[in-house]
Amino acid sequence: MKQSTVKYSIIVPMYNEEEVIEYTYDRLKRVMDGMEEPYELIFVNDGSHDRTVEMISMICDFDPNVRLINFSRNFGHQIAISAGMDYAQGDAIIVIDADLQDPPEVIVEMIAKWKEGFEVVYGKRLKRNGESAFKKATAKIFYCTLRSLTNVDIPVDTGDFRLIDRKVCDVLRGLKEKNRFVRGLVSWIGFRQTMVEYEREERFAGETKYPLKKMIAFAVDGITSFSYKPLKIATYVGFTLSISSFLYLLVVIFQKLVTGNTVAGWASIVAVNLLFNGIILMLLGIIGEYIGRIYDESKNRPLYIVREVQGYSEKEGPDTA
Ligand code: UDP
Ligand code: MG
Repeated sequence: MKQSTVKYSIIVPMYNEEEVIEYTYDRLKRVMDGMEEPYELIFVNDGSHDRTVEMISMICDFDPNVRLINFSRNFGHQIAISAGMDYAQGDAIIVIDADLQDPPEVIVEMIAKWKEGFEVVYGKRLKRNGESAFKKATAKIFYCTLRSLTNVDIPVDTGDFRLIDRKVCDVLRGLKEKNRFVRGLVSWIGFRQTMVEYEREERFAGETKYPLKKMIAFAVDGITSFSYKPLKIATYVGFTLSISSFLYLLVVIFQKLVTGNTVAGWASIVAVNLLFNGIILMLLGIIGEYIGRIYDESKNRPLYIVREVQGYSEKEGPDTA
């Protein structure tokens, strides 16, 4: 590990965030300047289509504490965070969203807890201001499902806004899985963890970069990365259906032989057929999700591709080996 003078690394993933960058930068800068210890702001541009990258680049030019990691395309929020961790040089690493929903001032409390000796300090959302009822409800269902399906103690109502110690960061970097569900991985690795509570603000400007499709993909990643219970459920459903069908078959044979009156029915057969075919396809789909993930892992492609980095002077280049 390279010796570095940076104490705190703040990682900010950004996807089409041109409307918020200046404000986010200003507020982060104000908070971090107040700490009076060396820090770096790592802005990861996750393949934005707007002026995000130009704006970060401009900030980089005049502020030596700012770095830009520019991806070759959109790789996703979780990957952007992981890249930030690869480049971070600080003793404490803080991940925060770009949209100021997580107030940068909370970082001060996180750092205080870290100085008390905690290695992971996560932010727990007390209230979510300005998020739709739909988002809140789906988030709740997701966390409940996740908790009931996995053995990993993933705290409810926490996002990726958290501080991790250098030790934790190095362990995380060693976990090379491709479908990354960072908050789950952080819980999984243990260490001394604690939380600070905060109120989640409304998005400062712009729109959510997590439309329903991405939210579902995120949820599926979270569940499949930490549990194979869905596969077990598939087995149980299969067994239950087979046993009940077999019993029903016995009933039908009995009726035919003893009472001789079997009911003529076409619609019911079609309905049952469709139902069973549907269930089978669904179960195959679940198995497919897991196989797809095995396939992703076996290809061994890099997690992300960086087009350029900016803001590192020659001698202090990032340690990404
Ligand atoms: N983000 C990203 N890549 C993506 C989607 C989102 O880097 O493909 C970033 C985004 O710029 C923001 C953070 O992830 O900093 C959280 O996204 P957002 O605030 O849109 O999600 P929400 O708060 O609505 O769940
Ligand atoms: Mg947000």
